[in-house]
Amino acid sequence: MSNQIYCLNPDCLHPNPDNFQYCEKCGSKLLLTERYIPRSILGQGGFGRTFLATDQYKPSQPYCVIKQFLPQAQGTDTIEKASQLFAQEAQRLEELGK
Ligand SMILES: [Zn+2]
Repeated sequence: MSNQIYCLNPDCLHPNPDNFQYCEKCGSKLLLTERYIPRSILGQGGFGRTFLATDQYKPSQPYCVIKQFLPQAQGTDTIEKASQLFAQEAQRLEELGK
C-alpha cells in the first residue's frame, strides 16, 4: 500500500507525497470533506471513477471507497438521469453498510 495521496481533480489526478494538504500540481484540496484521503485509483467507467481511500477521522484509519460522479454522456436529460441513478446507488450502498 503506497502512502501517496491522489488528487481528486478529474483533470489532474496527480499522486502527491503523504502529508500534503493541497495538490502540488493543481493546488486542489486533497482531503475529501476534511476526512477521506484518496490513496489509489480503483477503476473508472461511464459514470465516474472510484478511489481506494483511508478514513482519517477514525483512529484505525480504515479503508473505504470514494465514488466520484463523472458522467461521460452528453445532454442535460442524460446527465440528470445519471445523477438520479448515482444518488439512488449511494442510498443503497449506505443501507448495505459494510
Ligand atoms: Zn491536482
